[in-house]
Amino acid sequence: MKGREKLERHKVSLLKCSNYDYDLIKKSILKSFKNLGGIDKYIDKGDKVLLKINLLMKKRPEEATTTHPVFTKALAKVLIDYGAEVIIGDSPGGPFNTSILNGVYRACGIEEISKEVGAELNYNTNSVEMKNEKGLILKNINAIEVLNKVDKVISVSKLKTHGMMMFTGAVKNMFGIVAGLEKAEYHVRMPNIKDFSNALLDICILAKPVLSFMDGIVGMEGNGPSGGDPRQVGAVIASTSPYHLDVVATSLIGINPGKVPTIQRSVERGICEGNFNDIEIIGERIEELKINDFIVPEIRSLDLLDGKLPKFMRTIINELMQPKPVFNKNICVGCEKCFESCPPQVITMINRKPSVKLDECIRCFCCQELCPVNAIDIHRPILMKLLARL
Ligand code: SF4
Ligand code: SF4
Repeated sequence: MKGREKLERHKVSLLKCSNYDYDLIKKSILKSFKNLGGIDKYIDKGDKVLLKINLLMKKRPEEATTTHPVFTKALAKVLIDYGAEVIIGDSPGGPFNTSILNGVYRACGIEEISKEVGAELNYNTNSVEMKNEKGLILKNINAIEVLNKVDKVISVSKLKTHGMMMFTGAVKNMFGIVAGLEKAEYHVRMPNIKDFSNALLDICILAKPVLSFMDGIVGMEGNGPSGGDPRQVGAVIASTSPYHLDVVATSLIGINPGKVPTIQRSVERGICEGNFNDIEIIGERIEELKINDFIVPEIRSLDLLDGKLPKFMRTIINELMQPKPVFNKNICVGCEKCFESCPPQVITMINRKPSVKLDECIRCFCCQELCPVNAIDIHRPILMKLLARL
């Protein structure tokens, strides 16, 4: 890179794993540790390790919204056998309380595997303000208290598309260290994708995962992170760097990493190059596992037009190309989850059906993310789809 010091090469382990057979995954996890230099390089015996998995909402494992319980079980078992104490946790969407956590742990199959393997489930629902000196825009973050009670954090994400951010992987997974409904405040404070993706990086920097694993065995394509379709990918990915892991994961599903907001910010901030110059892949070649027709949503972003049109035209066109949430009232069951989770509170319930003030909608798609019956679609104007290809 011109004018910048040459970045160190980060190791990313990429392995084939075709299904959720426990022994197969455990083998892949052991191999991943070996590829990254050995478990003892990162974890000390007796360490308390938080597995920050993705537990967005109550979903069955086969729906591919959450980190698969067998993946979590195999990783926890390897760590416990090594001599670590394992705590499994996340702050799902909606309020952060014991009753919601219980429901999510049970539905997602995590309660069962934690008992089988002897891992603890996090029920500490306190949050603490933590200083984040290395953050760019978030210098203080209200994080879940368990983060302060462990020695190490491992990000255990799920490979998925995302309506607002295009892709959710190892970096976006760390947004779950922000407690419950406080996540909504971040959306309100930073409705712009560029600011929000910078905030996601700040949160990941604070959480500082010592390692990142990704359950890419069955990912989600289309209307992610919860309303899309499961898609076989067959990959277990691991790295010391969540930023570099995401570059490999996006490439694997045919996304140009340079189009993903969190990767764009990582490049701007000199954390990674956004390509393979600073990555050493150990294991399979990307081409061995690459999927070229993975369905990926176009995202709303003025960045797409930066430098391509004058500012006044961008403002007008941006208005015309805004995607919008569309509520299918025939599918809606009136649960009010969208109403409760809308950060700027622009949804009202009329006769048990949601109605949205679109002119005040910040297009965060939290409503779509948390609808339990996929009754919310993101409508993307044709103009937006065309411009997104520019
Ligand atoms: S979250 Fe979905 S099902 Fe629940 S009220 Fe909103 S649209 Fe209806
Ligand atoms: S209506 Fe949906 S997309 Fe719009 S601000 Fe509310 S949660 Fe976000």
